[in-house]
Amino acid sequence: MIRITELSLPLDHPPEALRHEVVGRLAIADDALLSMTVFKRSYDARKKNSEIKFVYIVDVEVRDEASVLSRFNADPHVKPAPDTHYYPVASAPTELTDRPVIIGFGPCGLFAALTLAQMGFKPIVLERGKEVRARTKDTWALWRKHTLTPESNVQFGEGGAGLFSDGKLYSQIKDPKFYGRKVMHEFVRAGAPDEILYVSKPHIGTFRLTGVVAAMREEIKALGGEVRFQSKVTNLLVDQGQVQGVALADGTEIQSRHVVLALGHSARDTFRMLHERGVFVEAKPFAIGFRVEHPQSLIDRARLGKYAGHPELGAADYKLVYHANNGRAVYSFCMCPGGTVVAATSEPERVVTNGMSQYSRNERNANAGIVVGINPEQDFPGGPLAGVALQEQLESQAFVLGGRDYCAPGQLVGDFIVGRPSTAWGEVEPSYKPGVNLGDLAPSLPGYAIEAIREALPAFGKQIRGFDRDDAVLTGVETRTSSPVRITRDRDSLQSLNTRGLYPAGEGAGYAGGILSAGVDGIKVAEAVALSILADHVSV
Ligand code: FAD
Repeated sequence: MIRITELSLPLDHPPEALRHEVVGRLAIADDALLSMTVFKRSYDARKKNSEIKFVYIVDVEVRDEASVLSRFNADPHVKPAPDTHYYPVASAPTELTDRPVIIGFGPCGLFAALTLAQMGFKPIVLERGKEVRARTKDTWALWRKHTLTPESNVQFGEGGAGLFSDGKLYSQIKDPKFYGRKVMHEFVRAGAPDEILYVSKPHIGTFRLTGVVAAMREEIKALGGEVRFQSKVTNLLVDQGQVQGVALADGTEIQSRHVVLALGHSARDTFRMLHERGVFVEAKPFAIGFRVEHPQSLIDRARLGKYAGHPELGAADYKLVYHANNGRAVYSFCMCPGGTVVAATSEPERVVTNGMSQYSRNERNANAGIVVGINPEQDFPGGPLAGVALQEQLESQAFVLGGRDYCAPGQLVGDFIVGRPSTAWGEVEPSYKPGVNLGDLAPSLPGYAIEAIREALPAFGKQIRGFDRDDAVLTGVETRTSSPVRITRDRDSLQSLNTRGLYPAGEGAGYAGGILSAGVDGIKVAEAVALSILADHVSV
């Protein structure tokens, strides 16, 4: 297989143009091109008034590959394609009795379970929330009827925190073993659109993700795994530094010497339990801020110029960073083109925002978190769980400022910048449900964060014209940007620093940020678990 990079074609090219381009680039006869797969398709919109083109990376099979490669020996854009297939590291012996336990069925737990099941290890997944359909109903009850179900919501339940999301599937993690390709291939096998395999910024969208997750659960079960919902782990059984199993809220105990913690960033009660049980946990940096909303058309115009609205490009996104005079970094987070702001609390009497979209990304507004990086040394120095306490305090305050009924506090950007409470909406309608109460957001975050965001918004307006328009909407508070703790693990064995057999993984443990990286971490941890079980088996 040969990989050709930097093949560029106009946005509106007919499908056959790519084949012609490949044949021409390699200077071969058309029938010498045996097969062709697009590995990646991106576009460069940085110079928005010049022509935007698609840039392809294509993997091809050709007749007489060696001679073609030798002709392009000195060409950096024609090289042997790397092998991106996934090869399992182990296969479970049939007489194995110790089944691995996975706590949490978000993307990390899902991929840990699937990978272990595919190797024959028959994992038991314990998920505190409900299966996808029941969970969807509970989540909508908060958005429509102000009713929160603490164990079944945007954060908890089948599919984890990423289920009601934009379903963005990109990440900047290093991935030398191409685990990210496995994540994408498994999603496609389970019903995600093929294009996620090759577009540069793939996304699935909420509606499709729910079907994908349910199909993957059925595969895990068909391979001998178990997925138990409404099964909250409330205790860890440890003997002389070695995990022996877990206990559930209903008192059931499950024995296992291999337990994966794929908890997500919102399992505050479980973080506390682990800390009390003596598992090594430390505070880590995260970010706090607001969601901002603009008309999507404003973002499209600013990013794509005359190509705004082009059907091949879809709704435009952005990524912004600003270094404020008080030393704080302010940046955009989890930008959702053509989406909605969502109520994302899992706890009673707390308000926290996030964003989601459907596959079509055709809602009127663009939204993103505008957040300020904070760290334990400077901002929450009170021990491993001080970041959790800070999040709780800010979310409780937002509940009060929003009117105590799960509506969120909000303010127009123009008023926020000059420090004046807002009293009336402009043209931009907020999408957050159950609703937004206009007022003053200054009391909702620490002073340094307010100061830094006030300074950043006009600076962002210089990069995206209209970003600081007076009637853009800020909704608060965005506090669950990543986990406030790290459940630190050993670099090689991937086990907890002080508890053998315990595998902290994914976003909650501080080893991932986003759906793709959480899935990749799940695969890594599954491999470590499989190899450890095999090693124990051999030594018995
Ligand atoms: P989670 O997905 O949080 O899953 C953890 C699971 O563990 C949960 O289901 C929880 O119920 C369960 N659990 C916790 N404690 C226990 C316990 N004691 N017993 C049993 N089960 C337990 N990322 C992207 O890459 N792209 C996006 O577009 C995107 N949009 C998002 C939109 C929203 C609204 C939210 C909330 C997040 C979004 N994210 C997005 C972030 C992404 O969802 C997370 O990074 C990802 O889900 C982390 O995966 P995880 O498996 O580590 O944890």
